[in-house]
Amino acid sequence: MKAYVFSREPDLIKRIGGVSEVQRVFVTIAGGTPTEDLVVALYLTPWGNDWAGVYCGARKNANDFTVGQGRWSAIHGFSLPPDLPPQYKLIRMKFGMCGRRYPRHERDRYGWEYSYPSFAAHLAHLFAHELYHYRREIGLESGGEQAACKWSDERATTVGFVVSSKRLPCKRRLRTPAIASLPAGVTAAYFDRMLRVLNRLTPAQLKDLQAHAGARVNELDRRERYRAVTDHVLQIKSLPSGAEIHIRPGVRDTFAGQAVTKIGNLRSNRRVQVRTPDGKEWRYPISWLSLSADVS
Ligand SMILES: [Zn+2]
Repeated sequence: MKAYVFSREPDLIKRIGGVSEVQRVFVTIAGGTPTEDLVVALYLTPWGNDWAGVYCGARKNANDFTVGQGRWSAIHGFSLPPDLPPQYKLIRMKFGMCGRRYPRHERDRYGWEYSYPSFAAHLAHLFAHELYHYRREIGLESGGEQAACKWSDERATTVGFVVSSKRLPCKRRLRTPAIASLPAGVTAAYFDRMLRVLNRLTPAQLKDLQAHAGARVNELDRRERYRAVTDHVLQIKSLPSGAEIHIRPGVRDTFAGQAVTKIGNLRSNRRVQVRTPDGKEWRYPISWLSLSADVS
């Protein structure tokens, strides 16, 4: 098994205990399952607080790794891991890290409610669920979604992750789309009616709607990314002169990964004045800067 963690904000990877902690969780859950051809990709976004997992099945082409649509559009732009095998089976997971705190309660679309004491427990449980689908493909299991929910519970608990779960009574279950909370003015009954209308639409009508929904999701994703960038600019600009800022390790710069000293703000929202370790002063792009030292 190969596991990769991606984030445009390396601080987020640090927040969940680093790549080694993620690998520890995966290895613990996958114990006893032959995973030679399994690749797991975890994405952490600074925007949103949603989470998702999917078993994508066999991938024959390196390019498939970086292609995703809808809720997986966040994977674009990350470079291909150099050691990605030529053929593999892929599990993808993502967590929006905006305001993500533990312990927390979550509901899934299959009628279960969970409480997770820690990110590790949540990650372990979600990975176990997707691993069940992989196990089914290699002939070790035969069930569907409910079986995956049950197996992931048992597996996570057996290897020491505390996850408590309960099956919700039918009435309280979420229908097809997993919606955490309804927008203001939309009651659960109204939402149910909307879903019933959806169930009567023809494939052509649904396709129109899908195009509309896809465009809307992209627009919201774009807005959230914009908000994350704006927050970052404000944070950097609000630092006093003399504050230590870090250059992100990934940027093409002599001082990448090192600390620099903030001298002051500029009129532009794109750059700030900094002093590099060699004593020189520069106008650095704010997008190159990070509030804390990044993990590599
Ligand atoms: Zn599933």
